[in-house]
Amino acid sequence: MSSFDEILSKHELSKEEIMTLLAAEGEEMSRLFRKSLETKLKHLDNCVHLRGLIEYSNRCAKYCLYCGVRAKNTKVERYTLTDDEVLECARLAHQLGYGSVAIQSGERDDKDFVNKIEYLVREIKKIDNGSLGITLSLGEQTEETYRRWFDAGAHRYLLRIEASDEELYYKIHPKDKRHDFKRRIECIDNLLSIGYQTGTGVMVGLPFQTLDNLANDLLFFKNKDVAMVGMGPFIPHPDTPLYEHKDRIPSAKERMNLTLKMIAVLRLMMPEINMVAATANQTVDPLGREKAIAVGANVIMPNLTPNEFRENYLIYPDKACVNDKPDQCQTCLDVRMASIGHKVLYNAWGDSKAFLNSH
Ligand code: SAM
Ligand code: SF4
Repeated sequence: MSSFDEILSKHELSKEEIMTLLAAEGEEMSRLFRKSLETKLKHLDNCVHLRGLIEYSNRCAKYCLYCGVRAKNTKVERYTLTDDEVLECARLAHQLGYGSVAIQSGERDDKDFVNKIEYLVREIKKIDNGSLGITLSLGEQTEETYRRWFDAGAHRYLLRIEASDEELYYKIHPKDKRHDFKRRIECIDNLLSIGYQTGTGVMVGLPFQTLDNLANDLLFFKNKDVAMVGMGPFIPHPDTPLYEHKDRIPSAKERMNLTLKMIAVLRLMMPEINMVAATANQTVDPLGREKAIAVGANVIMPNLTPNEFRENYLIYPDKACVNDKPDQCQTCLDVRMASIGHKVLYNAWGDSKAFLNSH
């Protein structure tokens, strides 16, 4: 057995071994992908879980240096969906058999916003007696706010760490009160202790990011014992400060392959977690989501945001599916997943097996 295959057969990976896997190319990369798919099928199955994505608002109080909806981007037309629009999206998710919704938004922590989300979560829970699962991705909040939303019925929360290395974190966020690395970690810890199925993740292929950083990111997810992870390629947005470093990042193909390797290695390290095939994958490669599923991801988030708002939620340019209608999306997903030997699981919450086994 070659030393590469020996690493592939291990359950616990050292940082050096993770880096060896992340550096794999050609035939070795294919062997990694075969092993990660085999691991997923052994511990989970070939089912893909859905979260109907509702992009609630692009109003954001933060200045993340990579994101197109950052507060300082004056070119964006700001919107917030009405209660009816949100509930209509949720009813559509239920009708289409998606089983769960994910509410994502720019970050706000004012009283109106916190109350509104609590109200919307309670209203969504009333649809067919609580049959929809609810994931929130609404940034950093106080522990009390997280608890209120949890008590209202949200049971999963996604808060990417974005970069688990403090130095890199401050290269992609301004260093000020609003963007505090320690607070972000504290938020993840609070979500875990409240009892959310907690998800985190990073962007892959950021300027200044090294293989060493990425290996540490994977170890960070493992050490925090999170239930879900979302990773996607970084896509430079021309109206953001990080765009000036666009020539320092790997090519789109390299970012895609690196993202796939991150997903594959993490599947070996955490066989039972939920992993999202992020839309950003499909933006850099038309088959990006299928590729992510085929190497270990098991969740897809079809967009339910009303079409007229989607083009204002451009966190990065050329976002995939901006013009698709939800029913087109459904057929398209079934066909796309079948093409790689997977099937979409309808009418289920699709909770993280890792979480269910540890609680
Ligand atoms: N505001 C919330 C937050 O930051 O957690 C949720 C919404 S935010 C738009 C969701 C994710 O989009 C972020 O966690 C970030 O990783 C990703 N994102 C933002 N800008 C991006 C870019 N230029 N390329 C790829 N992903 C990006
Ligand atoms: Fe706002 Fe989230 Fe974008 Fe940061 S990543 S600017 S918090 S929407």
